[in-house]
Amino acid sequence: MEFTDAGDDLTELLISEEQIRTRIAELARQIEADYAGHDVLLVGVLKGAVMVMADLARELRIPLTMDWMAVSSYGSGTESSGVVRILKDLDSDLSGRKVLIVEDIIDSGLTLSWLMANLNSRGPESVEICALLRKPDAARVEIDVKYLGFDIPNRFVVGYGLDYAEKYRNLRGVGVLAPSVYA
Ligand code: IMP
Ligand code: MG
Repeated sequence: MEFTDAGDDLTELLISEEQIRTRIAELARQIEADYAGHDVLLVGVLKGAVMVMADLARELRIPLTMDWMAVSSYGSGTESSGVVRILKDLDSDLSGRKVLIVEDIIDSGLTLSWLMANLNSRGPESVEICALLRKPDAARVEIDVKYLGFDIPNRFVVGYGLDYAEKYRNLRGVGVLAPSVYA
């Protein structure tokens, strides 16, 4: 789906498909250098991270495995609740593994802060974070993100995996949702 296919639901295209592709390739080069000679386990957070995971994993020229977790922190609204529940846990044992969490966006940071602690308690060799987007002005906890795509303004965005009420995930770029959609 292109920006124009969303009609009046989006006010602005914030990041284009091309910009995302370029940035993911840059992040992949960093990750390859940092993990050279090691097996890395990419942990994707469902459902928002599916597009980042699919593109990042294919861009990476190193051996890797992928696993998925589903957590819920939002319900269907646009405000982080801070309450995290595991809806689907990993299939993999993390002991001794080099884990790279792949996320769509860091908003308040509450989800990733919780996830970091949770995964670190399972005996991995390391846990790092790769996130496509971050809203610095929304941070409620400090997150040490090693690989970051873009810092964006504190507005509700959709596309490239990110949804509002499960919609717009298939938008190729990242756009700002019109307030009229969720008002
Ligand atoms: P946090 O716990 O506030 O950092 O939020 C993490 C999760 O909230 C993300 O993984 C997204 O699924 C969702 N989220 C946060 N901001 C947005 C947004 O602007 N659009 C869509 N989903 C968002
Ligand atoms: Mg979401």
